[in-house]
Amino acid sequence: MGSTTHDVVVVGYGIAGVTAAIEAAEAGARVLAIDRGYGGGATALSGGIVYAGGGTRYQKAAGVRDTPENMYEYLRQEVRGAVSDATLRRFCAMSAATIDWLVEHGAQFSGTLCPYKTSYPTDRHYLYHSGNEKAWPFVEHAEPAPRGHRQVARGLGSGKALYAALRAAAERVGVDFRPLSRVHELIVEDGQVSGVRYSTVGLDAPIVRRHARVSVVGGKLANWMPAVGTRINAHADALWQGSAVAAEARAGAVILAAGGFAFSGPMMAEHANGFADITPLGTVGDDGTAIRLGVAAGGSTSHMGRMTAWRFINPPAAMTEGVAVGPSGERIANEDLYGAALAQEMVEHHQGRGFLVMDARQWRKARSQVLVQSQPFQLAQSAYLFSVGHRKAASLGELASGISVPAEALDATVRTYNEGIRSGQGDPAHKAPELCSPIEEAPFRAVDISIRNSPAFPAPGMTLGGLRVDEETGAVLREDDTPVPGLYAAGRSAVGVCSNGYLSGMALADGIFSGRRAGATASGAFH
Ligand SMILES: Cc1cc2nc3c(=O)[nH]c(=O)nc-3n(C[C@H](O)[C@H](O)[C@H](O)COP(=O)(O)OP(=O)(O)OC[C@H]3O[C@@H](n4cnc5c(N)ncnc54)[C@H](O)[C@@H]3O)c2cc1C
Repeated sequence: MGSTTHDVVVVGYGIAGVTAAIEAAEAGARVLAIDRGYGGGATALSGGIVYAGGGTRYQKAAGVRDTPENMYEYLRQEVRGAVSDATLRRFCAMSAATIDWLVEHGAQFSGTLCPYKTSYPTDRHYLYHSGNEKAWPFVEHAEPAPRGHRQVARGLGSGKALYAALRAAAERVGVDFRPLSRVHELIVEDGQVSGVRYSTVGLDAPIVRRHARVSVVGGKLANWMPAVGTRINAHADALWQGSAVAAEARAGAVILAAGGFAFSGPMMAEHANGFADITPLGTVGDDGTAIRLGVAAGGSTSHMGRMTAWRFINPPAAMTEGVAVGPSGERIANEDLYGAALAQEMVEHHQGRGFLVMDARQWRKARSQVLVQSQPFQLAQSAYLFSVGHRKAASLGELASGISVPAEALDATVRTYNEGIRSGQGDPAHKAPELCSPIEEAPFRAVDISIRNSPAFPAPGMTLGGLRVDEETGAVLREDDTPVPGLYAAGRSAVGVCSNGYLSGMALADGIFSGRRAGATASGAFH
């Protein structure tokens, strides 16, 4: 068995791992990063949105007003105690400087502001309102500011480009990276975590070219067609297993940054509650290994039942003008909420089921916006929704019976919405006036927005909880709040700012914040 010695070992090389590695190496530590894949994880698949504010250089370039205090007042409503107020204040105070740090390490953003409501901007826009900033009740707590900073790249290449920039920066500061290496055990001596045991395949092994091809296809499909992706990934795994050899790496500190557990059947069965039917987002590496290793070393977990499901109803923006109702016909919430917040309402109060009801004028308006407001991956979804993915009826009563919703209840919901708009009193569910229009012109349509695993209109989701960490240091905590010596956690392996709820950009921002924190402390243990 090969054994090597380092100051810091980082397990998992996505956003949390690479930022931890950079921070530790820049502080002078000898860092080994280990990844079961080729590095990048969910980060490289992501949309590359980083949530940042408080007056970033790109907000200023776009003429946007924002302060750390304003950002804090907004995020406090979203974070709801997942981390302490002091930690959230620090997150906001550091936010503009975090963007500068990313740029110094090769990331690229832009202040081109998106003028309409969207869940992901086109390549004309790289700054947008990526959460609930403009929606009730959040709008009552802080001045809305766009904080979704998208790494400049085409289409869905932003996550890959952001990761590539940071990985190159890590290489420049001497981080040693070992891909195709899966950690399965922490070495614990006298209560101190002092390294990891892992199985590894060298990049020169004959299976690697085939493995790389198969795992790229499996990795992509796993996020849209889990059954197919899982089979392809199992094939890649069998190739890897056939060539893997044992190794160990010793270090004074180990940082667990190996993602969440959306791809672990048993852990999802235990914790998922209403989110059991999401399409898991991420990679096969999101199998909860890091969390289980941390627990085996004495660590404790929290927020394990907190998940996010992405039920985005826009673009096109005019979809937001419809009303979302549950199976009872009652309104779910103001439709201008961020997609994951709408999904949360649906899961908590409507058994995860719902329909978006629209009239003919809204439908025409939405259809006319599709081409201008959509990315190619969103076009595929719109093509489905505007062709076979909806119900159509000449009256609201007929529509109600088509979707098995009580007709009187649907009629009452629509009537109340229309009356609010016409009377000037506004939508009773507080949707922003510019996104409200009456539902009155036949034919009427309903889109099934339930949280259901479907390739044509998936409800992708991921886990938000993980190992409890000391918010000053990133050290993994035992139940009694004492740290497990030598063990740190970051990103989706840990509890962080987004553990109660996700907004676009918050997982990467949390990964950067918690990764850098763990890297700085772990390296400090040596110098
Ligand atoms: C399609 C998609 C779009 C998204 N868009 C955004 C967005 O725009 N903004 C945003 O904030 N969030 C986004 N997210 C969520 C975000 O990408 C993830 O939550 C975040 O990247 C997680 O970072 P991480 O470092 O914790 O994990 P990862 O980036 O997944 O890295 C973990 C790494 O650990 C490795 N690993 C796992 N187990 C082991 C083991 N036993 N041994 C060694 N290595 C191991 C994995 O191979 C992986 O490379 C998106 C996710 C997806 C899938």
